[in-house]
Amino acid sequence: MTDASKVYFGSIVHGNKGAFASIAVKLDKILENLDLSTIEKKDKVAIKMHLGFRDGYQTVPVFFIRRVVHAIKELGAFPFITDNPTAVYNAAARGYTAETCGCPLIPIAGVKDGYTEKVEFDFHNVDTLELGGVLRDADAMIDLSHAKGHNSCGYGGAIKNIALGGYHGPSRWKKIHGVEASIPYWDADKCTPEHAKKLVEACPDGVIKYDEEEHKLTVGFGMCNQCLECMEVDKDVGCLELKPENYALFQELMARGSEAILKTFDQDKVFYLNFLLDITALCDCWGIGQPHIVNDIGILGSKDIVAIEYATLDLIKKEGLIERMIPPFFRKVNLDPEADLHPFQRIHGPWKDPYLAPKYAEELGLGSSKYELVEVLSQEETMKMKPPTGVRETEPSFY
Ligand code: SF4
Repeated sequence: MTDASKVYFGSIVHGNKGAFASIAVKLDKILENLDLSTIEKKDKVAIKMHLGFRDGYQTVPVFFIRRVVHAIKELGAFPFITDNPTAVYNAAARGYTAETCGCPLIPIAGVKDGYTEKVEFDFHNVDTLELGGVLRDADAMIDLSHAKGHNSCGYGGAIKNIALGGYHGPSRWKKIHGVEASIPYWDADKCTPEHAKKLVEACPDGVIKYDEEEHKLTVGFGMCNQCLECMEVDKDVGCLELKPENYALFQELMARGSEAILKTFDQDKVFYLNFLLDITALCDCWGIGQPHIVNDIGILGSKDIVAIEYATLDLIKKEGLIERMIPPFFRKVNLDPEADLHPFQRIHGPWKDPYLAPKYAEELGLGSSKYELVEVLSQEETMKMKPPTGVRETEPSFY
């Protein structure tokens, strides 16, 4: 990787009412700049995206997907969309079908989520993960992501899209989501059942569970906002110790999970697109419609997974939160302007630093945090162009 990786940016704000200045054409321009020509004729090209779940419709609009599919088909290659099986099977409910997208939708690990390739890891309590066999079979990949918040790591984008979405269900839900607990945080010998129950009661978000029969206390790190009210109740006993290190494990494993997937591709045939549109607080997998908590920003494209993540996070940080849109169930939102926190940390807690996963990815050599933001069809540029005098339908048209 060179020192500064290029990240192409198409802003949602356009400088001309002509269609040539719109976000749609900016996506085409980004694809042109990314130069997809390394994709060869007949290559099977996986477009890895999050297709949402149940009523979670705020994924990347099919309108944009069609344009990406079209660009790949123009090369004579064969694109397909892939995600976890359930998301694929009910994708039509959110507008994604082979007809609307322009290419097939194939479950990432086969019909029953069992077509996988075992990848070895040596990371705390994780020794293997099962990579989706369909993604493994692809010759090229477009890692196409909806940028949004995430309760476990603050942010979900290009890294999360493949690091979780690239593996089969049990790998995601049991192993990757279970890694935070691999650093011991509760001392059973120091804790009585009575005190354990006090700790459960101390958590306003209900993320501490206690099994009295087994005398076992667990913290659901994914939903913990690090208010530390439980630690306050525990201070005279000292059986509970929540540390930033626990929360960081998920992010480091995401970087390592991405590395394992990227190793299966020729790096010249991997491209990243982040859509900073309809930016919600929680991931698309929640299956609910959500208010957007950051204004729409635009679309980013890069060949560097680290650079695109840093650029995405920096742009979201610059834009800031729309405070009135933050749902009231986020109990500990930190809106102190003096606190140097990313908007996603303000919502999900200071230890869920969204820059951590890209930082680990950079340490693994997956890319560079130094990036050059190259805006395509900027306001300044398109304002100088001749605008159309009007737009109207002169006669019915099928295309
Ligand atoms: S830090 Fe707060 S949210 Fe997290 S487990 Fe403790 S009380 Fe619950």
